[in-house]
Amino acid sequence: MVDRISPAEALGDALLAGERAALARAITLSESRRADHRDAAQALIRRLLPHTGRAIRVGITGVPGVGKSTLIDALGSHLTANGHKVAVLAVDPSSTRTGGSILGDKTRMARLAIDRQAYIRPSPSSGTLGGVAARTRETMLLCEAAGFDVILVETVGVGQSETAVADLTDFFLVLMLPNAGDELQGIKKGIIELADMIAVNKADGDGATAARAAAAQYRAALRILAPASGPWSTPVVTVSGLTGAGLDALWSKIEEHHARLEARGLIAEKRRRQDVKWMWAMVQDRLQAKLRHDPVLKARAPELEAAVAAGRLAPTAAADEIARALGL
Ligand code: GDP
Repeated sequence: MVDRISPAEALGDALLAGERAALARAITLSESRRADHRDAAQALIRRLLPHTGRAIRVGITGVPGVGKSTLIDALGSHLTANGHKVAVLAVDPSSTRTGGSILGDKTRMARLAIDRQAYIRPSPSSGTLGGVAARTRETMLLCEAAGFDVILVETVGVGQSETAVADLTDFFLVLMLPNAGDELQGIKKGIIELADMIAVNKADGDGATAARAAAAQYRAALRILAPASGPWSTPVVTVSGLTGAGLDALWSKIEEHHARLEARGLIAEKRRRQDVKWMWAMVQDRLQAKLRHDPVLKARAPELEAAVAAGRLAPTAAADEIARALGL
C-alpha cells in the first residue's frame, strides 16, 4: 500500500502534521526553479490550500537600522509565549545583487531562532521582485498549512518591495525612527497610504521623548495625508523592540484591526483582491521569462539595443520590429 502514496502526498501529510523538516523541504521545493519541482510544488500547494488562510498576516517595513529584527525577535517571542506559532519571512530582492540575504537572517533574531514555536525563513535569494514575492507568498501558505497562525513578512523600506509585501498581508506596519525630522519632510505619501499602523521605534532611554514628539508629528501628517475612512484609521504608537515597551499595545491594535475587518468580511475581500493581483503578476512574470528566452528575440535584441543606444534607430521602430518578430 505504501507505494501508492506519492512522495508529494507524503510530504503534504507530514507538513500538515507540523513536521518542521517537511515544511523546510516543501519550501525548498517551491523555491526551486526546476520545472518538475515547480510542478510538484504547485500540486502540493493546491492540495494544502484548504488548510491555509487562518493566520494573521502582517507586513513590517522600515529603513535598515530602524530595528526590524530586534522588534520581530521581541514581538515573536512574546507571541509564542502566549501560545502562537510564528513564522518570519522576508522579501528582499536586493539579496540577488549582494549575494547574501540580510533579511530573515536567523542570527539577527537570536531568541526566535531557537524557539520551537517559531520558524524563520530568509528571502528567496534570486529573481525579480515579482518572483521573490511570489515565492514568499507560497512559503506563507505552506507555513499556514503547517499550523503557523502569525506570519510576519519583513522588508526594507526602499523601492517597490513594500507594495509587494502590502499585497501579501492583511496588515502593514511601518516602523519609523525618532529624530526623523528630515524623514518627516520627505514622508512618502505612498507609504502612508499603505500603512495600517505607524510605530515610532526606539522609544526608550534618551530616545523616549523624541519618539513621542515624532509620533505627534506623524499623527498630524496622517490627518492631512490619509484622513480616516472606512472601518480603520491608522494609529501611531511608540515602541521599543529593545525593552519590549509598547509591544503589547502594538499587537492588540493588530488584533483589533483583524477582528474589526473580519466582522465585516473585509479580510476575505482583501485577500481575494490580492489573489486577482497575484494572478496577473504571475502572468506578467511568465511573459517576461518567455520574452527573455525567445530565440528570435535573443538573436535580434543585441543589435536592436545597440542601434537604439547609438541613436541610429528610433525606440518605436525597434519596439515595432520586436513585436512583429514575436507575432504581436
Ligand atoms: P534592522 O536593520 O531594521 O533589522 O535593525 P536592527 O534590529 O538590526 O537594529 C539596528 C540597531 O538598532 C542595533 O544596533 C540595535 O541594537 C538597535 N536597536 C534596535 N531596536 C532598538 C530599540 O528599540 N531601542 C534602541 N535604543 N536601540 C535599538
